Amino acid sequence: MLKRLIRLLRHPASVVWVSLVLATTISAVAVWAAVEMQHDAMRRANETAQNVSLLIERDTARNLELYDLSLKAVIDGLHAPGVMKLAPRMRQLVLFDSSAMAQDMGSLFVIDVHGNVVADSRAVPPRRVNVADRDYFKVHRDSPNVGLYVSRPFKPRLTAGDMSIALSRRLSNPDGSFAGIVVGTMRLSYFRRLFEGTNLGERGSITLMLTDGTVLMRRPLRAWMVGVNLSGSDNFNAFQAAPEGRFFAPSAVDGVERWYVYRRINGFPLILSVGQSTADIDAEWRRRAWIIGFLTVLLDVAIVALAVLFSQQLRRRIAMEDRLRVLVRTDGLTGINNRRAFDERANSEWRRAKRSGRPLSALIFDIDYFKTYNDRYGHAAGDDALTAVAGCLASYARRPGDCAARYGGEEFAVLLAETHERDAMRLAQQIRAAVEALKLRHASNPLGVLTVSIGVAGTDEHAFGTLPELLEAADAALYRAKAEGRNCVRSPEALEGQAEGASERGPRVAVANARETASAVRKDQRDPHVESLS
Ligand code: GH3
Ligand code: MG
Ligand code: MG
Repeated sequence: MLKRLIRLLRHPASVVWVSLVLATTISAVAVWAAVEMQHDAMRRANETAQNVSLLIERDTARNLELYDLSLKAVIDGLHAPGVMKLAPRMRQLVLFDSSAMAQDMGSLFVIDVHGNVVADSRAVPPRRVNVADRDYFKVHRDSPNVGLYVSRPFKPRLTAGDMSIALSRRLSNPDGSFAGIVVGTMRLSYFRRLFEGTNLGERGSITLMLTDGTVLMRRPLRAWMVGVNLSGSDNFNAFQAAPEGRFFAPSAVDGVERWYVYRRINGFPLILSVGQSTADIDAEWRRRAWIIGFLTVLLDVAIVALAVLFSQQLRRRIAMEDRLRVLVRTDGLTGINNRRAFDERANSEWRRAKRSGRPLSALIFDIDYFKTYNDRYGHAAGDDALTAVAGCLASYARRPGDCAARYGGEEFAVLLAETHERDAMRLAQQIRAAVEALKLRHASNPLGVLTVSIGVAGTDEHAFGTLPELLEAADAALYRAKAEGRNCVRSPEALEGQAEGASERGPRVAVANARETASAVRKDQRDPHVESLS
């Protein structure tokens, strides 16, 4: 199993496939990392917005509470007997708590039913001003149950200061009728400073609104926005829907898409929204994602390119090895098996025959009078003759178990698996006849054409202990064939008579006998080698 896997992986195409899987995996990891980075960025942005909104809410609520306490203290003071009878400076010290004098806190006033200031935390005698037209005066005059009222932004009349808001409470007579108001002004610069200290990125925004949609302060500050009413906008509707929440939306003011976290200021009619721009949230992780993406693509391309190169090299190497394997087993001149291939094959066939008990036969050929052929017609013609004989041989040894080879200079051998010596003799006769039939002119041969002598040996007729013994027996038979006239087939002993019929000497007799044998062989339909002759 493991071996098969390793073999599969060494296949040129597998290398490319593995590299593609690897590259895809790396890309998948990079995408996963990018998605994680986006989630992390979103989580961080949300946490930041939550923290900022919570801090601002706490600070605002604490300061407004303190201011409200000052208003209540003034109301309590006014109800205390005799306070209004005190000398003005004394009365001012009793009514107005110095804690309300902090930075950004304006003045505390006691206003009568007509809207005129009757007590002023910053001046004795009080500065003369009428506030009967202000919303905070009208609200308390018209309704007894308003409690603490936070006014809309206004430009203070007494000072040329920043835009302010007023926190006011109603003064009531014992019978519940309107007796005036106590009001404290607060500069909106307090919120501006509070908002400016936060780090929400370039396009982040903070907006403080009254619950009716009136903007009190915004970061980044657009002066025209203070006092603008946002009620009716989608975002404001969402702010009103719950005491706190979060959502993605484009801003109604500047169109920038933001992640909004909003909450009510605890105990006050105020809504605070903190928005982080999507572009700011995405900028950082996107930059990293691009770098990772770029490196991933480079890595993927490098892996696949290397794999393709490697696979090409592997393919070339395998082709080369295949070619070498063939070359190393092929005879350069004739193109049939060489001695090495024959020996390997003979060894394995010998072992197989030993195991199975099936017969194994060997034929050894030698061209007759070849030396003189060379001498007469030249070495090149000799080579051509060798090639022609080899082709003849190969065409007769075509079964899977057959192996025809060039055994030496002008000697050839054929190994016949699962073949009896008798059948091998017949095949040898056919080959001998076929070579003769080539009619390669050879003037030094008594027959006038090129002929071969063949020695045959089979394991079914003789007891050979080893493969060399079999081949030596075939070789010995060949020498007998040479000795007994050439252009004939000989076996070591028993089948001799069958092959030649008679043991006359001389090529002509041998040829005549051979022809007889060949015609006899043609009639034998059971021999697979006979079919190849017809
Ligand atoms: P015999 O009938 O007894 O076999 O006589 P012979 O002349 O054929 O003698 P032998 O078998 O000893 O001859 C071998 C000759 O084969 C010697 C050499 O000139 C020739 N020979 C061997 N290899 C080659 C080859 O590759 N090409 C050519 N052209 N001739 C070869
Ligand atoms: Mg020879
Ligand atoms: Mg010879």
